[in-house]
Amino acid sequence: MTPQDALQKYFGYSNFRHHQEAIIHHVLNKQDVMALMPTGGGKSLCYQLPAVLLNGLTIVISPLIALMKDQVDSLNVSGIPAAFLNSAQTPDEQRRLVEKLKHNHIKLLYLAPERLFGAENRLVPFLKTLNVVQIAIDEAHCISQWGHDFRPEYLMLAQLKKEFPNVPVIALTATADKLTQKDILEKLNLNRPAVFVSSFNRANIMYRVIPKKNSFKQLIAFLNERPDESGIIYCLSRKSTEDLAADLKDEGFEAEAYHAGLNNEVKARNQEAFLRDDVKIIVATIAFGMGINKSNVRYVVHMDLPKNIEGYYQETGRAGRDGLASEALLLYSPGDAGKLQHFARIEGNEEQSRIMLNKLNDMVKYCQLQACRRQYLMNYFDEAFPPNCGSCDVCLTEFKRFDGTLIAQKALSAVSRLNERFGVNYVIDFLRGSKNEKIREEHKQLKTYGIGADISKTDWQRYLRELITMEYLLVTDDGYPVVKLTNKSAAVLKGIQKVEFIESEVTEDTHVNELAPPHEAELLSRLKNVRKDIAEGENVPAYVIVSDATLLEMATFLPQSLDELRLISGFGDIKLARYGRELLQPVKDYCKNKGLESKIAYKSPKRERKTKTDKVERAARTAKTRKTNDTRTETFTMYRHGKSVTEIAAERGLSPMTIEGHLSHFIESGEIDILEIVPQEKIPVIKDAVESYGREMLSPLKQVLGDDYSYGEIKAVISWMNKNG
Ligand code: ADP
Ligand code: ZN
Repeated sequence: MTPQDALQKYFGYSNFRHHQEAIIHHVLNKQDVMALMPTGGGKSLCYQLPAVLLNGLTIVISPLIALMKDQVDSLNVSGIPAAFLNSAQTPDEQRRLVEKLKHNHIKLLYLAPERLFGAENRLVPFLKTLNVVQIAIDEAHCISQWGHDFRPEYLMLAQLKKEFPNVPVIALTATADKLTQKDILEKLNLNRPAVFVSSFNRANIMYRVIPKKNSFKQLIAFLNERPDESGIIYCLSRKSTEDLAADLKDEGFEAEAYHAGLNNEVKARNQEAFLRDDVKIIVATIAFGMGINKSNVRYVVHMDLPKNIEGYYQETGRAGRDGLASEALLLYSPGDAGKLQHFARIEGNEEQSRIMLNKLNDMVKYCQLQACRRQYLMNYFDEAFPPNCGSCDVCLTEFKRFDGTLIAQKALSAVSRLNERFGVNYVIDFLRGSKNEKIREEHKQLKTYGIGADISKTDWQRYLRELITMEYLLVTDDGYPVVKLTNKSAAVLKGIQKVEFIESEVTEDTHVNELAPPHEAELLSRLKNVRKDIAEGENVPAYVIVSDATLLEMATFLPQSLDELRLISGFGDIKLARYGRELLQPVKDYCKNKGLESKIAYKSPKRERKTKTDKVERAARTAKTRKTNDTRTETFTMYRHGKSVTEIAAERGLSPMTIEGHLSHFIESGEIDILEIVPQEKIPVIKDAVESYGREMLSPLKQVLGDDYSYGEIKAVISWMNKNG
């Protein structure tokens, strides 16, 4: 059987994702591999598929029992014999397992590292008598002290290569910076490993940050629009998880709390209920999540500011493992940042405190961002990304900007007059000409005193914040924070550099309208119920039977026979035989009642499935971005009527930058020829610069290229390059 055949037969998929195919190829050739893939990327398949094809035993090392159980259930449901070994098993159960292993009846054996190399270590000699053909190490970053999740017992895995020198090892992780990567390779003693790094972008997660005002009300509004969906709500403190869960219950939501302080029984019960879709919402501290591979988590909400981007990205990453559109919502209040700053300071450890504060600062910057959030996240993890993802709140919101150069000049000269020795509030009081006695007498004599009296305090706070984000001002981060000028300030004061502000914070309207994808919602919910019944019968979580993505396809393409059902992604041979009929019946009944017919013909052949699901996703996304598209189209129409960028900007009350952004979209789609915007001779020069300096940041490019090249031209060439791949 070829890998492609096995993919279809056992997993019901028709295309490999990321580097799956190459990874599998290496393992089958007995080579060591390290694979880095984002959560939900499909790491498990990289060793599960070889395990099916190879004639022998695959050992899987995994840190968490909950995770193992899930995986083993999923494999067995797909007709792949798998088992795990843990301390909770009775001697009898263990003996039976040993017999099965001896008779080659098990394809995959899951173990915790301490089982393998624990005190007695009788297991390794036994395993050596078996035909071990592959060793997979899941969550491989746990071996590194540099990682955020170091587990000392993983260090024992260094012995693996000594004990099983001829068995290929595949190390997998979703989180590894360069240092951790190096550590994994060294500590595991991998033999000339092939390393595969996939992009860490989670394209199906939409990122959004809203200002926290009345957080409970905001949360309820959010949840009310997603009544049937499953999600995780993160809070900072244990107490607030319990309070919030109780409040949600009062409002009629199925919610439970989870934190490290609850007793084990309650924790296990709540987690189990969540996994089985008995409880839709889990309100948790960050103690919850590691090892939860529930694939249909549709949203992750952060009620409080996370301490760093690493944690935030990992937590939001728990949404949408099944690849369906999911959301990450963060409620941000500057006050939270203040509180955390307090916690970030570690007594007697200046070095560590500074690192933590810097990380917190990066998190705050993310919240205050007026540029693509996804790009910021990707750049944070050293990955290049174009400036407009189309699926974060910033990219989906049209900001009205205005020329705020004069305001900026007032603020900067006030800071300068105060000799850069005062904090934000003092600067604002000074600008507004406050009669407060806090303001020193000598300052009241200065000409700049009161030059900003026409602007409210809140507006000044916002302008200063933006000036700090744009790096025209900075705030010192030692003992007493004061506002200082930066090397970019002079240009503003001299009037060389213009500054734009956002007209008013777009807060209420950042909500993106969710238009239902073209599926039968009522049928989907019936299918979920049928799946739940099956899962209860088999005593496994619902998503182990088939994923939400599979049910969604069914409710979209309405298969009427087993042959048609086979065309739905996720139905391998065994699943089709076991659950096909039971899941098909409600579709047939529903269609009969409603006079609907199969739409399976609209689904491209399985081989091209990927493009099809892309299409469904795109359809959903198109609905979301309609607002953006309308405004772009308006710009485009005006452009086609011969108007210049400046004219369009003036007429539409938008900034030229925004208009250029709109037009670059049409360059990328091919509707505008690059030569309409950039003179031919300039193109290779800009292209050259982009290739040397990257396409993420415009300002360094502008600096290199000089005054003869406009931002608009640079942006246009980047779009044109994106189009040409
Ligand atoms: P990870 O361990 O990388 O977080 P998983 O291995 O749990 O991710 O895979 C996430 C989901 O993607 C699972 O539901 C899995 O069945 C599915 N999946 C994996 N490979 C493919 C593929 N080639 N095509 C479609 N779905 C896939
Ligand atoms: Zn974006």
